[in-house]
Order: sequence, then structure tokens, then C-alpha cells
Amino acid sequence: MKQIAENFAKVTERIALAANRSGRSPDSVELVAVTKGVSIAGIETVLEAGADIIGENRVQEARQKYEKINSSDVTQLFEWHLIGHLQRNKVKSALPLFSLIHSVDSLRLLKEISRRSEGIEKCTDILLQVNTTGETGKFGIVPENILNFIETSLTYPNVRILGFMTMGKLSETPDENRPAFELLRNLAERVKTQNYPDVSIKYLSMGMSNDYEVAIEEGANLVRIGRAIFGQ
Ligand SMILES: *Cc1c(COP(=O)(O)O)cnc(C)c1O
Repeated sequence: MKQIAENFAKVTERIALAANRSGRSPDSVELVAVTKGVSIAGIETVLEAGADIIGENRVQEARQKYEKINSSDVTQLFEWHLIGHLQRNKVKSALPLFSLIHSVDSLRLLKEISRRSEGIEKCTDILLQVNTTGETGKFGIVPENILNFIETSLTYPNVRILGFMTMGKLSETPDENRPAFELLRNLAERVKTQNYPDVSIKYLSMGMSNDYEVAIEEGANLVRIGRAIFGQ
């Protein structure tokens, strides 16, 4: 557990350095501590170390942990984000748990999120997941379809698009993912110039344990980090 706190401090420091290199303040980059497969004690430790966003991949796992963490001694405020693929039949149980869903990758999913949000009189904040590496079989909207996707989504009032998420390749050399991250940043800039109503592109969620520093240099302001904090 001591290792988790130390790793968290180290990651936080490297995030700050990368932010400075890209001419931004360290506070402009938010860290999502990815706790899939991590125990309750591990989550409590990272919260005590100062994490304020917890990222989970699966609704079921998050739900079990949510109850335990909420009834534990943790007192500081923090949010839960859903970062993994979301199936439509899990939307209903996901909505009460997460303040941001990073992984919206189809209109059918977006419609279901809107419909279920309407049912509980809520507007749900989402990111669109983009496939920036061109790998087939990978989740994510292809970049060429993003403008169309957003235009169609404007008719669903109970979701609010706050930005984009992408995953680089699982590569040993982080620099290989630079073009993918750059692509997402450019896409965001292009969408911003369209001035769509109710779309505010605040977040670029990109960068994981192996490539978060490169992602920050390319404009990430939300990084999702698991292994570098919790070990393998
Ligand atoms: C697991 C996961 C992460 C974190 O990956 P690490 O390599 O452990 O940092 C980030 N994003 C998503 C979508 C993930 O599934």
C-alpha cells in the first residue's frame, strides 16, 4: 500500500513536468486513477494519497466497489468515471455511478444514455471514443465520422458531449502514439470551430501508463493511469 502512495506521487510529478513542457500549468491535467482489478484497500490508499477521480472499466465491478467505498472511512470528495466499453443493457445501472462516461462509441449507445437519463431527469456528461490508430476491431468512432456523429447527437437533449477519448497502441515506445494523440487534438480543434450548441469540447482523455507523458505533450488534459500506480 505504501508503494501505491509513492507511485501516485511519482506519477503526479511526471504529469506536472509534462504539463510544463507543453506550456501548461500542472493543474490543467487531471488524473484518473484506473482501479480495475484493484482492491478496496488499494482504492482507499490512492484516495488518501490525493486522487480525486477513480476510473473503472466495468459497471458490475464498479457497482460492488461503490457501495463498499461509500460505506468506508473515506471522507474526501472524488468522482467515478467509466472508461471501458459500455453495453446498452448496462446503461441504466451505470448512470447513477459515474459523473463522466469516456467511452461512447455508437449512436445506439448515445441514444440509450439519453433515454435513460431523461427517465431520471438528468443530463449525462460523455466523451466520444475515437479510433485514432486505424486498428481494425478496436472500439471507437472513426475520425471521418465525428462531425456527422455530433450533428446527429444534437437531437438528444439528455447527453452533453464534453470531449474525446482515445487509446494509443499498446506499444513499448510511447512516441509511436504521438500521431494518434495529435490527430485527436486536431479533431477537437476542428469541432470547436463549428460552435455546435451545447457541445463544449473541454476534455481530451488520452494517455495511459505507457504513454501519458507523450499524450500530455500533445494536449491531453485527462489521463487514465492504472499500472504505473498499482503495479501490474
Ligand atoms: C486499463 C485501462 C487504462 C489504464 O491502463 P494502464 O496501462 O494500466 O495505465 C486506461 N484506459 C482504459 C480504457 C483502460 O481499460
